[in-house]
Amino acid sequence: MTSLIAVKKCTSYDPSRVIEAIRECINNISGFDDLEKGDNVLLKPNLLMGASPEEGITTHPTIVEATARILLEKNVKVMIGDSPGSPYTNLENLWEKTGMKSISKKLGIKLLNFESTGSYIKNFKSEKYPIAKPILECDFIINLPKIKTHNLTILTCAIKNMYGAIPGARKTDYHRRYPSPSEFSERIVDIYELTQPNLTIVDGIIGMEGNGPSGGNPRKLGIILASNDTVALDVYISHILGMDPYMIPSNRIAIERGLGKGLGNIKVIGDEPTLIDDFKWPSNIYHALEFLPLRLAKTLLRFWWSRPAIDDRNCKNCGVCVEACPTGALTQGMSSPVFDYEKCVNCLCCMELCPHHAFYHEKSFLYKLTSRLSNRR
Ligand code: SF4
Ligand code: SF4
Repeated sequence: MTSLIAVKKCTSYDPSRVIEAIRECINNISGFDDLEKGDNVLLKPNLLMGASPEEGITTHPTIVEATARILLEKNVKVMIGDSPGSPYTNLENLWEKTGMKSISKKLGIKLLNFESTGSYIKNFKSEKYPIAKPILECDFIINLPKIKTHNLTILTCAIKNMYGAIPGARKTDYHRRYPSPSEFSERIVDIYELTQPNLTIVDGIIGMEGNGPSGGNPRKLGIILASNDTVALDVYISHILGMDPYMIPSNRIAIERGLGKGLGNIKVIGDEPTLIDDFKWPSNIYHALEFLPLRLAKTLLRFWWSRPAIDDRNCKNCGVCVEACPTGALTQGMSSPVFDYEKCVNCLCCMELCPHHAFYHEKSFLYKLTSRLSNRR
């Protein structure tokens, strides 16, 4: 059996073009076949933080609104829900800045903050996962991710977006307990397995490249994609962005668990996009080190490192990164937080959640040298 992926070129967030593109994608894969009149439908966008749509960090509101409008024609009840990356996020500000509040007002749709909806504990593979109640109680979930790079997991898109089903501080706790990309990706796939959406529609009009998911640069990609196979979507997106899909731990793990199809079993319907060979992937070094013996990796890390650092000129000393750090490696300082690199596990939660883009990657001489040499190849 092959998985169908619908692709439609769409180069702007013009509302009429977006709604037609999404409608065509849904029709091409019969995406609403399981939907019934009166169903409770939950839209799960990526609302990592209170950022404006132009920053390319959150799912664009036009995608959310278009999907909601198509759904309302089907006489179903629509809700929008998510849990931001940090439990200390000002929710009112987040709904406002991301454009969700305006959609809610216009269409009479309820906004659900997973911090306050409560959760059910799910035992899974020796872990206990608190999953937000609306995710498990609704009749139909539509996953609305954005294509972005991620410093730890390489890609954050369809599979990783369901990680938002975990409310608040527990999200950063998994970073502390599972610091390596592979271990952490196992948890991402666990959560995906527990929350599998019925349909995924991807905001690929403007994605993010470089040091995502919040510190990278917006990149025009000009596509909307949809599928009932969330895993196949991530695999296909990695492929068109020039990355071997199996180098991304969550893709590899999800396919090994039989949760979706690999490249050989995907059929694309619609506008097959041209491959992008200059997409900038993140520069976290931990992926390379995972494959070395521990002692060798530790020795190498004394001379070859890349770590988060704060540019004092941009830091507002707001404390978001201090609260977000799962290991206590950051403490409040006079003008900006202070690092204890002995405690740092390089999860990059601090960088991900800084609302003022004050973080950068500080790199050792040897690291810069090897990067330069590998770029020349
Ligand atoms: S680095 Fe960013 S998150 Fe941390 S205190 Fe400064 S502005 Fe706030
Ligand atoms: S300092 Fe940043 S990268 Fe290091 S453990 Fe804390 S949040 Fe993670």
